Amino acid sequence: MPIRKLSKEVAQGIAAGEVVERPSSAVKELIENSIDAGATQIEISIEAAGKRLIEVSDNGYGIPDVDIPFITSRYSTSKLIELKDLDRIKTLGFRGEAIASIAAVSRFELVTRAQEEDIGTRLIVEGGEVKDQVRIGAAAGTTVKVRDLFFNVPARLKFLKSDVTEKRRIAQLISRYAIAYPQIRFNLMQDGKSTIQTNGSGDFREAFLAVHGVDWARQMIWVDGAGASEIQVRGLISPPSLNRSNRREIVLFINGRWIQDASLAAAIMQAYHTLLMVGRYPIVYLLINIPQTELDVNVHPGKIEVRFTEPNLVFGVVQRVLRANLLGQAPSVEPHFSSTWSIGSEGLITSFDTQAWGGIESQRTQLPSEGNDVRAPDFTTGQIPLLRVVGQVGATYLVAEGPDGVYLIDQHAAHERILFEEMSHAQASGISEGQVLLTPETIEFKPDEVDLLSENLKILKMLGFDLEPFGGATFKVRAIPVIVQHLGAERALRAVIEDIEEDETPLANKHEERIIARVCKRAAIKAGQILSLTEQEKLVHDLERCEAPRTCPHGRPTMIHFPVALLERQFGRRN
Ligand code: ADP
Ligand code: MG
Repeated sequence: MPIRKLSKEVAQGIAAGEVVERPSSAVKELIENSIDAGATQIEISIEAAGKRLIEVSDNGYGIPDVDIPFITSRYSTSKLIELKDLDRIKTLGFRGEAIASIAAVSRFELVTRAQEEDIGTRLIVEGGEVKDQVRIGAAAGTTVKVRDLFFNVPARLKFLKSDVTEKRRIAQLISRYAIAYPQIRFNLMQDGKSTIQTNGSGDFREAFLAVHGVDWARQMIWVDGAGASEIQVRGLISPPSLNRSNRREIVLFINGRWIQDASLAAAIMQAYHTLLMVGRYPIVYLLINIPQTELDVNVHPGKIEVRFTEPNLVFGVVQRVLRANLLGQAPSVEPHFSSTWSIGSEGLITSFDTQAWGGIESQRTQLPSEGNDVRAPDFTTGQIPLLRVVGQVGATYLVAEGPDGVYLIDQHAAHERILFEEMSHAQASGISEGQVLLTPETIEFKPDEVDLLSENLKILKMLGFDLEPFGGATFKVRAIPVIVQHLGAERALRAVIEDIEEDETPLANKHEERIIARVCKRAAIKAGQILSLTEQEKLVHDLERCEAPRTCPHGRPTMIHFPVALLERQFGRRN
């Protein structure tokens, strides 16, 4: 095809896509505009996960009538005049493309009145084309309504994730800004229900509590590293005992801007080093203020990335402030057990490092390198021979003997595997029975958790959870799977939710498997738990009957095998 200039419409659509990827990115741009306009109150109303309606209403400065014609053309902004001003940017916006982009891909309506004017303006734009601009009476401030987002870009509509995912993104976005801007009153309505509400009191902790509830708020540690250097770090961080399976609650605001930065997140993880188990993440809400000149905010159209002039300086300060607060307040470490095995000069090195922080769940095992004789042989299937249990080591591993050598079995991983197969079979045959609770429990969840639960009621039922919505954000729980009885209804359900949350694109089948795996992980015998010989034998014999005894449901090995030949060679009985 010959080269042609793209039509204005197509070009607009492509450019819009960089800024407005999905409904939640439109919401982000709109609330940033409200914040820039000095609003003390922002109301957000969402319908159908933002596909039908996004409405953002604020009591900020408003837009003077004379400026209205500019706002639908790209690179029109009241916030930046010269390039050299970029490193003095105090506002969240500066690229002047959000409104133009959103209006290019939606049916857009804006009603605004500047504080100093008596009469307001209404502007209507459809797919980038101005349809109407009239002067009307209006309250001071600005209301933007975005209807039918992407109506003229069907390809983008198709790629949007499920409504539940998108609603959760929006809820997450608003929670974050509501916490970072406690002086602003936020109210988020999703499909007519108010899901997030803060009071605008200016108190960071109060805003955190309004969003995340008392349970978390009560445990969080306040950090304040002001005055330590030019870099200010303030916020709330969780003690090691309060942790999650994903890093989604590591939330960073730099100079008022929510950003995502992998190396800064790594610096935070470093501060928790040895305090958290592998695979667990803290809850961290940090407001970092650094001199504007140390920062480039103009890296990404969505403005979610920044570049630091001196990254190591920033990481260092963050790490030190967090670490000092954590060590100052952390509870004492429970019995610590660690040892290293080493066989042969370049042979196997397997180290286990087990720490008790609110219940040990897993341990790190460096697998023997390939070509090594000491094997956890083909980790997929393959039955294991009948084994004779010799005993338990370090309250974590079982030693067993088979016709072909010695087996070292990870008791937690092995039990996970056993439970996983039991539950999968029960579920496949439709006979998984829940343990009926003596008294049904009513449990309150957060709005996005409610959605996840409601969407997955069927799967949960199959696993033996019996629960039903009980008005508002509460569920009544009548039964839970037998194997998680000891956790209690609330912890068992929260464990499951965490896993669904992590799963962004559930494939029906795999999804169920993951949930089962998660439940089993919680239910399984832990490392550090002393077992009687009878219990050890039962565990090993149940494992022998598994279809895939050599790996846990997460794919890690349940056992390491030392073949007779290897032992003989290592002891110099054979060459
Ligand atoms: P930017 O925020 O990068 O300047 P936008 O496209 O988001 O670009 O907005 C364009 C301009 O419209 C802003 O510079 C601002 O002057 C005005 N504007 C947008 N939303 C609001 C609002 N809620 N209140 C006041 N002014 C607004
Ligand atoms: Mg903007």
